[in-house]
Amino acid sequence: MRKLFAILGNPVAHSKSPLMHNMAFGTFGIKACYGRYLLEDGDRLRGAFLSLGLSGANITVPHKEAAYRACDILDPFAKKVKAVNTIMHKDGKLHGYNTDAPGFLKTVESFGEELKILFLGAGGTAQSSAEILKETGHRVTILNRSRGRLAYFTQNGFPAFTWDGFAPAPYDIVVNMTSAGLGDDSLPAPAGLLEKILPDAKAAIDVIYGRKTPFIRMAEKAGIPAADGTEMLLYQGVIAFGIFTGNRYPPEEAEKAMRRALLL
Ligand code: NDP
Repeated sequence: MRKLFAILGNPVAHSKSPLMHNMAFGTFGIKACYGRYLLEDGDRLRGAFLSLGLSGANITVPHKEAAYRACDILDPFAKKVKAVNTIMHKDGKLHGYNTDAPGFLKTVESFGEELKILFLGAGGTAQSSAEILKETGHRVTILNRSRGRLAYFTQNGFPAFTWDGFAPAPYDIVVNMTSAGLGDDSLPAPAGLLEKILPDAKAAIDVIYGRKTPFIRMAEKAGIPAADGTEMLLYQGVIAFGIFTGNRYPPEEAEKAMRRALLL
């Protein structure tokens, strides 16, 4: 029988994940199909997953913490960062993983080692990505609009600031880790502050994909290379595909198939 996979979240209509995974399933002749499911209430995640008869799923905003709570068994990294974006149904149990952070790490790796990185934003994606970057020898500083989310970072040894009185240093990479620019034209930090930070940076990354955000435009204006979130999306998908298929297929081939999906 064909196995069923899906992305669960709100919204999911724009998601490229179904196309990416279906292209990869097709490439290897795997009898499986990947769809999308609009989930409004995170507390219904486990029930929805089981009643849909899913073999596996990706979880997107705003349910990654609900997904963490819904799993029976957690991979050590997902347990540490308390956020799950990939679930696999195995032996009657839901196993949870986080592939966003290793996906982001792959993007950063192309810029070098032991980098000084400034994150604009302190949400769930920033938390898991900061952890994995720290584990791999990079140094991350956090700059966020408000104070509330900074506690996690200061408790875990990251320098973390709000905009007021922030004294920028030169960074190798400045990353927009917020949703500013996703559905609007806002910047992730005040323009005056970014005008001081960006010209001294070697590169900029925006985790948002599929549109040229004001942050990317500003980085280009500052004359530094700027990448969007497409590579992160791609790699988190390749790693999730490996989990769905027991790592039985070459990831380079899955990546090729998924890259083609991103052109559509
Ligand atoms: P969260 O909701 O957990 O965090 C949002 C963060 O953005 C907070 O730090 C918040 O600040 C800040 N923020 C929101 N709006 C603004 C604004 N207008 N100005 C300044 N700061 C703002 O989000 P996630 O961590 O889940 O997601 C963050 C981004 O990552 C999203 O854009 C998402 O699409 C993207 N993403 C991309 C992926 C990819 O594959 N490319 C994968 C996963 C996520 P405050 O604390 O003050 O509210």
